[in-house]
Amino acid sequence: MQIKFSTVILRKLLVSSALLISILSHENFVTAQDGNMDNFIDSKSSKIAKDVKKWRRHLHENPELSSEEFKTAKYVESLLKKFGLKPQNGVAKTGVVAVLQGGLPGPTVAIRADMDALPILEETGLKFSSKNKGVMHACGHDFHTSILLGVAKLLSERKKDIPGTIKFIFQPAEEAPSGQLVGARLMVDEGVLKNPDIEAIFGLHVEPELDVGDLGYASGPFMASSDLFTITIKGKRSHGAYPWKGIDAILVAAEVVTSLQTIVSRRIDARKPVVITIGKINGGENFNIIADEVVLEGTVRTLDPDAHAKVPELMKEIIDGITSAHGAKYEFSYTRGAPVTVNDPELTANSVSSLENTSGIDSVHITTPTMGAEDFAWFANEVPGFYFDLGVRNEKEGKIYGVHTALFNPDERALEIGVRVMSNVVIDYLRNNSK
Ligand SMILES: [Zn+2]
Ligand SMILES: [Zn+2]
Repeated sequence: MQIKFSTVILRKLLVSSALLISILSHENFVTAQDGNMDNFIDSKSSKIAKDVKKWRRHLHENPELSSEEFKTAKYVESLLKKFGLKPQNGVAKTGVVAVLQGGLPGPTVAIRADMDALPILEETGLKFSSKNKGVMHACGHDFHTSILLGVAKLLSERKKDIPGTIKFIFQPAEEAPSGQLVGARLMVDEGVLKNPDIEAIFGLHVEPELDVGDLGYASGPFMASSDLFTITIKGKRSHGAYPWKGIDAILVAAEVVTSLQTIVSRRIDARKPVVITIGKINGGENFNIIADEVVLEGTVRTLDPDAHAKVPELMKEIIDGITSAHGAKYEFSYTRGAPVTVNDPELTANSVSSLENTSGIDSVHITTPTMGAEDFAWFANEVPGFYFDLGVRNEKEGKIYGVHTALFNPDERALEIGVRVMSNVVIDYLRNNSK
């Protein structure tokens, strides 16, 4: 708190002394302040906070599902044009990308925001609640999009002083339903990290477990990989009174379900977190018939890239062994989803300094990695990435509900904080990495 306080006081002093100098020297205040990018980011973030809130509310009222973000993309595109950028649309179907070429030489980085909403009926009762019934920005992607718009507006105004190039990536389909490719993967496949070549990428996510004003991060792996699988056990139908005449697919499936957990408890290094969940099981025809087929569906999560590589083979061994012991057959399909999201340790260490300088050391927390997944992983798999959490919780105002719930209502004060922090993280990186 001490440092946060002194940083704020220091900034205020700098702003007031700039004002005093400008008055004494009959210069324009804005010009005097323009000399210092840090001050500019600080004061501009609060000046545009109203706009960012307006954009956020517009997006919140008009949510669109994954890969259907047509109006959202148009809205983003029109604002980017107003900021003097030349956005490219239709990237990964509904994504929008814009490049800000700074006036000074330096590296090229990207900032990513996701734009899609969820199939949830909103129950917040907010006056700007979703007008698209049954669809809701319940994961805060309205925050992410409007914050990135704020960063784009702010930095576009100081284009000439920016040492490098910034690509703004407005990504569709982060919440793509299972079986469909997620937006980040599609964008990487379409070459969004090339031409110009990105050397680092940044992103943030709202976090209702953290108080507004606080930020969270973890270095290294911090969000799990997410794969899905289907196992079909094929037995042989017979009368329930004569099981020896058939092969009981339910009994075999039960053994498979139980034994798969031994991968976690006995086959994978216990220091590497792995989750194997079977969330759906379907089979049988009647109470007195030996079932000839059972279908199991589930997900595998892990924070360890080696375990991620190993699990499917271990699953196959178990399924193969158990089915053959019972004379049953099987089909096994395993689909890889998002890889482990890894925060590059060096990039993280440097970016955390920017977080601390902007928000104060006491507001920045190391968070526990989660077994949830995030498709930012596809970007961070290609180039060093830094992804952090933006606190949006406010107990007093009842803004306590989690993402993906109908009552999710993040504190809008986080919008300004998001713009300020992200702008500083990116500008600091460009400054520190330009020769
Ligand atoms: Zn989500
Ligand atoms: Zn999300």
